[in-house]
Amino acid sequence: MRELNKNVTQFKESVFATLSRLANENQAINLAQGFPDFDGPQWVIDLLGKSARGSANQYAPLEGDISLRKVILEHFKDKRGLEYDTQKEITITHGATEAIFCSILALVNPGDEVIIFEPFYDSYLAAIQLAGGVPVPITLKGPGFTFDIDELEKSFSQKTKLILFNHPHNPTGRVFNDSEITQITSLTCKYDSYLLCDEVYEYLVYDHQTFKSLAQYPGMRDRTITISSIGKTFGLTGWKVGWAIASEDLSFAIRKVHQFTTFCAHHPTQKAAAQAYENLDDYLPTFIRTYQEKRDLFVQGLKSCGLNPVIPEGTYFVMCPIPDHYNLVAQAFSMELIKKAKVATIPPESFYINQHFGERYLRFCFAKKEETLKKSISRLKDYFNH
Ligand code: PMP
Ligand code: GLN
Repeated sequence: MRELNKNVTQFKESVFATLSRLANENQAINLAQGFPDFDGPQWVIDLLGKSARGSANQYAPLEGDISLRKVILEHFKDKRGLEYDTQKEITITHGATEAIFCSILALVNPGDEVIIFEPFYDSYLAAIQLAGGVPVPITLKGPGFTFDIDELEKSFSQKTKLILFNHPHNPTGRVFNDSEITQITSLTCKYDSYLLCDEVYEYLVYDHQTFKSLAQYPGMRDRTITISSIGKTFGLTGWKVGWAIASEDLSFAIRKVHQFTTFCAHHPTQKAAAQAYENLDDYLPTFIRTYQEKRDLFVQGLKSCGLNPVIPEGTYFVMCPIPDHYNLVAQAFSMELIKKAKVATIPPESFYINQHFGERYLRFCFAKKEETLKKSISRLKDYFNH
């Protein structure tokens, strides 16, 4: 048989698929793949039924349903102080993942360098590789998950086309401070590069911190692609409605890729998402409070097992160092926990190019019902205290 695409043959199964399967096979509680074990709000789910019974069952426009484009940009203006054109500067995609793929394929030529902060969401690297780009990793090193400014500066070159940043950050839970972000955005401008900022956890920020989009920083509006989706904000990861907000030129290029990948995202879901976003401001305070309670409960629980988790400032993940006396790397240790504690976590090595930086951590997802979190802690306590 003829050879398959070389890039594709080197891809391994996504760690999320592997771990969810292992969790099921071993009847373990799944704190691995990032999704809530409860549904999003019933009023939002009802909107989908309504829109499917309405007149949104044929293709949506390629660039997305106008009501959704409008409401997203209204919130962007209100919360980030930036105005974008509804017709030309936003594209609705099949989840943030498609927006990431389309953006990378739209910008990166073979040989272009792409700076990628590790640990990263696994689709970033795959997209760079498919585009023929050269990934240049910058490691966020635990326990603080900060980066070294000299290292960052050295990683930029005339070949740097794009920087991939995720904020708030999965899996570390970091919400970066102004000085860190300014270091990134200044270098991006200095080298005339583009920046893709994946902000899918934009509303999951704890302790009353304010969140700023990278597009808000000086010189960044027209070189930033801001990506988000409905999945985390409304607890509906299966809906897969995402978007890319970017200048007209960048959006034009993104749309060219989008038209040949999916053409358009699922239409009834876009309509329902638009109506859900109309009520975002009423919904957010309870949403944030609920997740902050989950974070506090779970972090306390991990501490009560004798663990030393890195307290997340945002997202619904927590990174936890593997205690020194367990002589196993994360992949092996997560297997041990699935089998013996019946709790599944993500071994984060596959979020790194330099995998050894991830091998002494486990990622837990706390987007779970209180009873699930309590049950997990009780199982972990039994395991770690014996
Ligand atoms: N970016 C990050 C950082 C994520 O964690 C995820 C998935 N949880 C996504 C993108 C994918 O979002 P979507 O499901 O909307 O494609
Ligand atoms: N982003 C989610 C996580 O970090 C999972 C997304 C997926 O399963 N592809 O767990």
